Amino acid sequence: MRIYNTLTRRKEEFRPIKEGEAGIYTCGPTVYNYAHIGNMRTFITEDLQVRAMRFLGWKVKRVMNITDVGHLVSDADTGEDKMEQGARREGKSAWDVAKFYTEAFFADFKALNCVQPDVVCAATDYVKEMIDLGLTLEKKGYTYRIDGDGIYFDTSKFPDYGKLAGKKHIEGIQEGARIEANEGKRNPTDFAVWKFSAPEEKRQMEWDSPWGKGFPGWHMECSAMAMKHLGETMDMHWGGEDHVAIHHTNEIAQSEAATGKPFANYWLHARFLVTGDAGKMSKSSGEFLTTSLLPKKGYDPLAYRYYCLQTHYRKQLEFTWEGLDAATKGLERLREAARRLVPEKGDTMPHGVPSSPAAKYLADLKAALEDDLNIPQALACAWEAARDEAVPAAERLAFLKEADKVLGLELFAAPKAEADLEPELLALVEARAAARKAKDFKRSDELRAELAAKGVLVEDTSAGQKWRRRPS
Ligand code: AMP
Ligand code: ZN
Repeated sequence: MRIYNTLTRRKEEFRPIKEGEAGIYTCGPTVYNYAHIGNMRTFITEDLQVRAMRFLGWKVKRVMNITDVGHLVSDADTGEDKMEQGARREGKSAWDVAKFYTEAFFADFKALNCVQPDVVCAATDYVKEMIDLGLTLEKKGYTYRIDGDGIYFDTSKFPDYGKLAGKKHIEGIQEGARIEANEGKRNPTDFAVWKFSAPEEKRQMEWDSPWGKGFPGWHMECSAMAMKHLGETMDMHWGGEDHVAIHHTNEIAQSEAATGKPFANYWLHARFLVTGDAGKMSKSSGEFLTTSLLPKKGYDPLAYRYYCLQTHYRKQLEFTWEGLDAATKGLERLREAARRLVPEKGDTMPHGVPSSPAAKYLADLKAALEDDLNIPQALACAWEAARDEAVPAAERLAFLKEADKVLGLELFAAPKAEADLEPELLALVEARAAARKAKDFKRSDELRAELAAKGVLVEDTSAGQKWRRRPS
């Protein structure tokens, strides 16, 4: 498999540490709020990587952390902890906030058909490991203390600092960081290994350490947990593109300073989901779209998965509602085409790997996956096979079942039995048809939204208004 390594800035053949196996670490969500669909683009990409590798025969161990402490509002390691901010916003304890949004995250994860990681680790369960890593760095002379603030990593002592993002980029950060520079820092790029609790206020999440009461720096979390579960050097480390210049750069510095070994052999990054006028989707702005809102607006979450599948992960993806409508149609049509291949009752269902000539499709699918996770191409293979009448239906069916192991679109999900609508819902459907006929589009849109909220999707076709229940 060839993958694009941010570290070397080129596509490389993946060479594992252990033959046939891959250890993958993926930075998880910061659970002070819901994950937005931008975050989920990165998680869908990582899910596709894991599914694709398993499909290609690799034994994969995926580790994902939950950041439930220490991610500060400012990247300069100043400002409030996002968890404490969330707790204040909601009038709950930081622990309750973490629990609530972790559960919400996995509900979204599942709705988007992402496979549960092999290890999920919450930062608050690994504070001892983080302290141990900090002590190793201290012993090796990489850290210094800023009174009343914390223990910092001196980036000038790590000669390769910034190799992931490129020196130029780091210089840019150094320039920018000067404006909000933390007075006590020796270099603007230095970052917290351990932060002290402020004496004047009681933190909800804090631990004793050899340096004083406080909490771990955000970057320390991923280094300590990744090493614990994947060893001092791992195969692949994933995250969104925003992590290149700071979070992953700092993970590399502290991990490699501590062990003297490469931390990860391949660094992979998903480009952002952006919203036209608003730019990147951001949690801190408070305005964002979540996965759980999609069904409330009448969309199948897997239509969003399909939306993501259409664009390569190394290209920015712009979100629009029109695009999501188109993805909804695309997914429905592909499912319809797939279902048409399923034999009538009584016929024997084909199973196993497709034989020739559908084997050509299988080879194309593998080639797409092996070429830097080219999922749009994999999706195109599925479409082509679904439509190729020259190949027997049974073989195309067998192929699509294989392809769906990677795509995760539930192409064969049984459509819900379209029972007659309850009278109350039927009345709404009829009222909408009447409003449309009377060209009262405002009212017809309102009724459409009301129906969608109740699980009924209406669509205007050339044959008139059609309704269906939203697939669960
Ligand atoms: P966070 O919860 O902020 O720690 O982010 C979780 C993951 O989502 C990280 O891998 C981020 O890099 C990624 N991420 C954040 N914003 C976006 C976005 N707009 N599009 C894609 N990925 C994102
Ligand atoms: Zn991380």
